[in-house]
Amino acid sequence: PPEDLRDLRVTGLRVAFDGFTAVDGVDLHVRPGDLRFLIGPNGAGKTTLVDAVTGLVPASGSVRFGGHELLGRPVHRIARLGIGRTFQTATVFENLTVLQNLDIAAGSGRPLRSLLRRRRRVPEAVEEALHTIGLESLRDRRAGTLAHGRKQWLEIGMLLVQDVRLMLLDEPVAGMSHEEREATGGLLHRVCADRTVVVIEHDMDFLRSYASSVTVLHAGRVLSEGTVAEVRADPAVQAVYLGH
Ligand code: ADP
Repeated sequence: PPEDLRDLRVTGLRVAFDGFTAVDGVDLHVRPGDLRFLIGPNGAGKTTLVDAVTGLVPASGSVRFGGHELLGRPVHRIARLGIGRTFQTATVFENLTVLQNLDIAAGSGRPLRSLLRRRRRVPEAVEEALHTIGLESLRDRRAGTLAHGRKQWLEIGMLLVQDVRLMLLDEPVAGMSHEEREATGGLLHRVCADRTVVVIEHDMDFLRSYASSVTVLHAGRVLSEGTVAEVRADPAVQAVYLGH
């Protein structure tokens, strides 16, 4: 498909809860290959924006991806367009192995019984995801025994095997060690090479080393947008966010 079909185009997005406007006319344009970070103080509307894009909350305005208008579609139909997200708490099947988690996410169509059998051919997409998330050597470990950071990588892997073209990640490095953060930065770069990626983030240090562009939200509006350096130098950003 033409390149711009993989752009995320949010126009005049508005989300209100009982008269309180959480997202107040946001415009956002993210291209594939762009590692876009969405930052802003608590309550800025970051999660609500991602909720609106993925169909979890009703919104007005326009959200276009893959040649489709997303607003007004139910969650499962948005997911079917190749749009996936993670939440702050990783949601993996704790009692299944890394491989089984990826296999189930891939929805290979095989009955669960055969997925759980040990000796079988591993689909190519699953092998590829294992490699991308760096968990090849832990493929037979139960997901519940993985360290926090690795669970987050597994969750990203589960989106990769679903061939997600637009990936929205909610604070993927929250609670990670320095080493895990560094590894996650590398992973995000691999992931965004041929996907459109939006990352909600609080950690300014992580941002500095990995973001290619940043959108700062404040009180439901776009306060600033640009490279990390541009956004950091913006007095409006310093006033409401960096000063904290
Ligand atoms: P962020 O992710 O930037 O911290 P959120 O998107 O979670 O901000 O929240 C934005 C604002 O919307 C906050 O003031 C929050 O209290 C409010 N909000 C979020 N979800 C709901 C909801 N379901 N009902 C009412 N208010 C909500």
